[in-house]
Amino acid sequence: MPDAAADPVPADPGQSALAPGWLTPPEDPNDLVPAVWPASARRDGDGALTIAGIAAPDLVRRFGTPVLVIDEDDVRTRARRTRRAFVDAAARHGGTARVYYAGKAFLSTEIARWMIDADLGVDVCSAGELEVALAAGVPPERIGFHGNNKRVFELERAISVGVGTIIVDSDIEIERIGAITARTDRRQTVLVRVNSGVHAETHHFLATAHEDQKFGFTLEAAERAVARIRELPLVDFAGLHCHIGSQIFGTGGFRESAARVLELHARLQEADMFTAEGGPVLNLGGGFGIAYTRADAPTPIAELADGIVDAVAEQCAVRGIPLPTLAFEPGRSIVGPAGVTLYEVGTIKSVAVDGPAGTAERRYVSVDGGMSDNARTALYGAQYSARLASREGVGAPVLSRVVGLHCESGDVVVDHEYLPADVAPGDLLAVPATGAYCAPLASNYNHVPRPPVVAVTGGSARVIVRGERIEDLLARDAGIHGAADHPVAAGEGEA
Ligand SMILES: *Cc1c(COP(=O)(O)O)cnc(C)c1O
Repeated sequence: MPDAAADPVPADPGQSALAPGWLTPPEDPNDLVPAVWPASARRDGDGALTIAGIAAPDLVRRFGTPVLVIDEDDVRTRARRTRRAFVDAAARHGGTARVYYAGKAFLSTEIARWMIDADLGVDVCSAGELEVALAAGVPPERIGFHGNNKRVFELERAISVGVGTIIVDSDIEIERIGAITARTDRRQTVLVRVNSGVHAETHHFLATAHEDQKFGFTLEAAERAVARIRELPLVDFAGLHCHIGSQIFGTGGFRESAARVLELHARLQEADMFTAEGGPVLNLGGGFGIAYTRADAPTPIAELADGIVDAVAEQCAVRGIPLPTLAFEPGRSIVGPAGVTLYEVGTIKSVAVDGPAGTAERRYVSVDGGMSDNARTALYGAQYSARLASREGVGAPVLSRVVGLHCESGDVVVDHEYLPADVAPGDLLAVPATGAYCAPLASNYNHVPRPPVVAVTGGSARVIVRGERIEDLLARDAGIHGAADHPVAAGEGEA
């Protein structure tokens, strides 16, 4: 790919003056860049996109648009491959590793079962996510419970079902867990979440003494928190936890953070503070980056695992302490690349835009979804890519912005993409890499029903999360169905 930043003269006559430097016109605006698409994505003889052997038009005939399609085998393979990478990397140093799937990336009972099949645990961060994991049959001891404001009823539920680990985030939470374990006479294992001062995002990481964010204890406060946990007779301390951010490329941030956290870990080891069965644990969180566009080149998971685990092992050797059991919590890198959202194109218009190089045209392609099914572009300025899904286009690449149907000018799905000139109303458009943080962040903005999630494998498709209908939205309106008291579930009211 030509490096546009190093070359002020557009290398390609098709390059739009409005295109960002990282995006150049593709040779073929129908190509499917493997890193960005699910493993099974292809084009069939008619030029239609297929996933797991099912053509996009067939999926849309059955499930409508928009629809979030998940390549089940791709998710399962990524889960297995991730666990294998960390287990193998730890084994080379005589250690062990565990992988928890971060359910917040996208959780349903089916997904949770795929994770159990691949021998992963599941992380949850609310009563709702916990109930989904339990309903899926996730063994409670393989559940990790996160959150900076776990409410009392949530902690009571987690402790009563016997979740494997609660990752504690505040002094108040420690007291709550102490009180609940004493009252119910149940033991509970905990990790202490620390804020290492390292925050990583994509290509950069920031390392400060103190980070200004709500999660975790500072390293100093963590030491006091561990001392307090040791006073609680039914609470077992297993180790430290640190999560440095999301969509991270490379290992630099993880290595820096691990070095900082291991200094405290070693002190705790010396003071014999680890009381949980199975020995000390060090959980380094998730955050492994994926490709959203052809400009992203994420590090393969085995390389990441080796780089991180080797660095931890080296630090342990320097400090003369045994390698703890290592734990990781990827979400995005397991489900993100396996998802594709299918939309139908509705309207198209070109807008003349004044730029530094004169006036250029931007083509707006409107689809029948938007920020209600993918909030990431509006929320984080995320970049995505797109391709025609019902056929191959025949026109030259035209810089396009894919927008939704919401009454909001920030309702953008794909900010910049080259699509064939002949894109027309009624075409199906596919946006890849939507498996993570799209369905979970979906809303009913403008009273738009949330789309179904469909898993595809071996030529067959099934709904794993039902789509909403207008009736679902009306059902909550007390002016239609009569005012009712909000039924508070047992225990919820006391938090
Ligand atoms: C969000 C989160 C994860 C998962 O992050 P991904 O970027 O999806 O891998 C893991 N651990 C914690 C504590 C998180 O908050």
